[in-house]
Amino acid sequence: MKGRTHAGMGVITFLSIYKFLPGGFNYLGMIVVLFASILPDIDHPKSIVNKYILPFKNKMTKATLYGCIGAVLLWYNYLYLDKPIIKALGIVFIIIAVSSHRGGLTHSLMGMSLFSFVAGYIGNMYNIHYLVYYFMIGYGMHLICDMFTNMGVPLFYPFRKKKVKFPFTYKTNSKIGSAIEQLLMICGLLFTIYKIPVIFYK
Ligand SMILES: [Zn+2]
Repeated sequence: MKGRTHAGMGVITFLSIYKFLPGGFNYLGMIVVLFASILPDIDHPKSIVNKYILPFKNKMTKATLYGCIGAVLLWYNYLYLDKPIIKALGIVFIIIAVSSHRGGLTHSLMGMSLFSFVAGYIGNMYNIHYLVYYFMIGYGMHLICDMFTNMGVPLFYPFRKKKVKFPFTYKTNSKIGSAIEQLLMICGLLFTIYKIPVIFYK
């Protein structure tokens, strides 16, 4: 599934369920959902997230850059800080470095838990305790959406490497796949237009 479709699905989900969330409708929450809904594809050197981070869009650069950031964080933490959050962050970066696209942790429940731990910790640091829920919604939606594509996701990695998918799937970048994603985006746009007055003028 394309990055922008993931972003769109994240927004649709947010607009459908914000009423049930502890923080209700708020812009920070929406940005967090958006960010989390494209984050899992950080394992792909050409994904939206990496477009702005990597100087060269290839596997080597991705592995080297994230590997180095992770190693420096772990090392610095070991020497000076000794904080669990920095350790978790270091581990997250190492995971990103070694994950092949949809082959590893970023597309698994284990990865989602690790990333959510970091997001929750950052939220608590700023007294925004609801942040973690918004993060999990975006991240979770990404995994669910990818399960509709024929590649599936290694949901139970590292315990089981088998890719999990729904009984009805489509191929990303195929004719039908692109048509489905375009249709989703149009429906999403209409839904968003419908929702805006509901949010602001109730
Ligand atoms: Zn993905």
